[in-house]
Amino acid sequence: MGDVVSIDGPAGAGKSSTAKEVAKELGFLYIDTGAMYRSVTLAAIRNNIDINKDDEITQLASDLDIGFKRIDGEYHTYLNGEDVSKEIRSSQVADLVSPVSAIQGVRNVLVEQQRQMAEDNNLVMEGRDIGTNVFPDAKYKFYLTADVAVRARRRMQDYQQNGQDLTEEDIIEEIKKRDKIDSSRKFAPLKKPRGAYVIDTTNLDFNEQVKIIVNRVKDKSGKFNLKQI
Ligand code: C5P
Repeated sequence: MGDVVSIDGPAGAGKSSTAKEVAKELGFLYIDTGAMYRSVTLAAIRNNIDINKDDEITQLASDLDIGFKRIDGEYHTYLNGEDVSKEIRSSQVADLVSPVSAIQGVRNVLVEQQRQMAEDNNLVMEGRDIGTNVFPDAKYKFYLTADVAVRARRRMQDYQQNGQDLTEEDIIEEIKKRDKIDSSRKFAPLKKPRGAYVIDTTNLDFNEQVKIIVNRVKDKSGKFNLKQI
């Protein structure tokens, strides 16, 4: 079993960009679990499966092959061998991903895969339930949060880069709706994991966020050179 750095928090708190850089600096694998839930959601949309049919969606999730590859420093998500990195970021997928993620069977399938990833690798894994449910004993747990307006602005940039124009109001509504479903669902809801170090990124810049996490992991582990980055 490798070392796990868990990074949880609501939508747009800066988890993905921060986790990627932290993984790079520590030489750990980076795993975006949100991309896995998004891939199941995309497959459900493509197969016209009613998202209220828990059993059908769970069966679909267990039949899918979801993988990641790093190409020229960029992370790509593959669904049955097809690069779906862009498609899983659409607002259509964002709209349905929280109800799909609330299905217990879907979570069981994906959590099992996530735990297997740590068998032979050191990981930086980001999501909603990594420090509470997937790896409750993770040595290094972080919880990132930020004001909703700041989070919406960050998401807007992501959408723009993806060629989609949404208003700030639309995005605020989307992330509020998702956060509400994610934190009130019955199975593995979003919450601050016990023992997690909380970082409010509202007024932090990206390099500061990365530095706080990397230095804390290095300090706690004693395995790394304690050079300040
Ligand atoms: O991180 P991202 O915004 O891509 O996550 C998309 C959705 O996937 C979240 O809103 C949540 O519903 C679900 N998710 C989850 N558990 C995780 C990661 C993501 O339920 N560990």
